[in-house]
Amino acid sequence: MAVALSNFTRSLAAPSEVVRPAGEAEWLRLLERADGRGVTVRGAGASYGDAALNSGGTVALTGALRDVGEVDGGSGTVDVGAGATLADVLAVTLPAGWTLPVLPGTGRVTVGGAVAADVHGKNHPARSSIGAHIESLVLVSPAGGVRTLTPDGSPGPFWATVGGLGLTGVVLRVRLRLERTGGWVRSADRAEPTLDRVVEELGRNDAGSAVAWLDGHSGGPALGRGVVTTAVPVGGPTGEASATGRAGARAVGRAAARARRPAPRAATAPGTGRPARRRPRSPLLLSASAVRVANAARFAAARAHGGRPRLVELRRSLFPLDALPGWPALYGRRGFLQHQLAVPPGQEGVLALALRALQDAGHPPALAVLKRLGAPPAGHEAGTLSFPLPGWTLALDVAVPPAGPGAVRLARTLDDLDQAVAAAGGRTSLVKDSRLRPDLLRRMYPGLDRWRAEAARLDPDGVMTSDLDRRLGLRGAGAGPC
Ligand SMILES: Cc1cc2nc3c(=O)[nH]c(=O)nc-3n(C[C@H](O)[C@H](O)[C@H](O)COP(=O)(O)OP(=O)(O)OC[C@H]3O[C@@H](n4cnc5c(N)ncnc54)[C@H](O)[C@@H]3O)c2cc1C
Repeated sequence: MAVALSNFTRSLAAPSEVVRPAGEAEWLRLLERADGRGVTVRGAGASYGDAALNSGGTVALTGALRDVGEVDGGSGTVDVGAGATLADVLAVTLPAGWTLPVLPGTGRVTVGGAVAADVHGKNHPARSSIGAHIESLVLVSPAGGVRTLTPDGSPGPFWATVGGLGLTGVVLRVRLRLERTGGWVRSADRAEPTLDRVVEELGRNDAGSAVAWLDGHSGGPALGRGVVTTAVPVGGPTGEASATGRAGARAVGRAAARARRPAPRAATAPGTGRPARRRPRSPLLLSASAVRVANAARFAAARAHGGRPRLVELRRSLFPLDALPGWPALYGRRGFLQHQLAVPPGQEGVLALALRALQDAGHPPALAVLKRLGAPPAGHEAGTLSFPLPGWTLALDVAVPPAGPGAVRLARTLDDLDQAVAAAGGRTSLVKDSRLRPDLLRRMYPGLDRWRAEAARLDPDGVMTSDLDRRLGLRGAGAGPC
């Protein structure tokens, strides 16, 4: 079926042939018979950029791989189909008292998409990325057929696939390691008046989860002021609130079930290509003045609250954005882009530079989120495109401006920012990207050549591809779809 697919941020559209293979045999046949534009595998389509798009080619959906097994309490693992969402998985594990150690900002992404982006959560210093919690995965690749990969038994193909953006093959199943939970966290919001203070506060919270919302509109001495939200698990077998443990886990299970509702239509509706019915014609709700007022109110509310801790359901602390279905539509019909950068410790100046540069260009971010990153999982050195590096990551959401001088200014500003990030030894996230210049790729991803070698062994003819792959030349010169 030929349809127009879009990315999560509604900024791109790609006509594609959409297929829904069911079992192993159908996936194998699809890869064997791929045509010249190759195959892109797509989960929930929640990538901000073009990683799950294949203009003029085949896009294969993983919706038929949505089963979630029982929790194996002995090994603390669960076996899941790659098309299950993280919310699907939590709906099974939380009532049994287990959670996933790493969760991104939405429960609507699929397990396959999470593995292919090696997602990180708000607890990266403590738990690293999802790759550190995979017991094994089943991959079907053009040259390797169906194989079970483990980090110890097959480190090369395993780490090329974790964070490999779907370019080594299709992940069919994953055995994930879980950890015990009582279903509740002790959470606190602290308003911090400067970026330095935000950074300091995040640096103090390496044990649990910590994230900072930054006011992208405040400048001068208040540049980068924000609210740091921390959450520490409580309850469960060893926690301080064990009496609430079972009830809490059940409540979280119910909340996770609510999150299983489909994601906003343009993000996940593979296929329809139809605009959302209630899409506003202009980003009125996110106009600069409205965002400025909302930011000031949010900062003031956190300051008034004084950082007092409160007990909240784990699920509520994890996915605040999922409570606002369809929020990308607030950016209007051109959508938005996200620029997510990571820089090593000691390069915090780049965080201020990013905020100031966007403000000076007339495009202050409508949303700015800062997190601390710890060490990557052991074994990554085998060659990976995984994003997290020890230090800081800042995600900046900016409305796409109409064509004209404003758009040119934004493009130049982001290009300059990419240069500054690369010079600082940092990188930008590929799964969020829609505009990076290919010449910065090798500087940002030093494992690129090792990753390319592994990817070429699993898929020598470049059957697995995407608009992102072609735009950045991820596989390198000479490699390309079929
Ligand atoms: C609101 C929101 C918050 C987010 N927060 C975070 C965060 O905190 N941390 C973080 O790391 N990321 C975060 N992300 C990014 C998101 O986790 C990734 O983009 C993820 O890859 C999306 O998963 P998906 O199922 O939608 O995959 P898609 O967007 O469909 O695909 C993403 C990539 O995965 C590949 N892929 C998908 N399924 C498979 C498979 N079965 N086998 C092989 N490759 C596959 C695709 O080819 C593509 O390259 C967030 C995204 C949103 C929308």
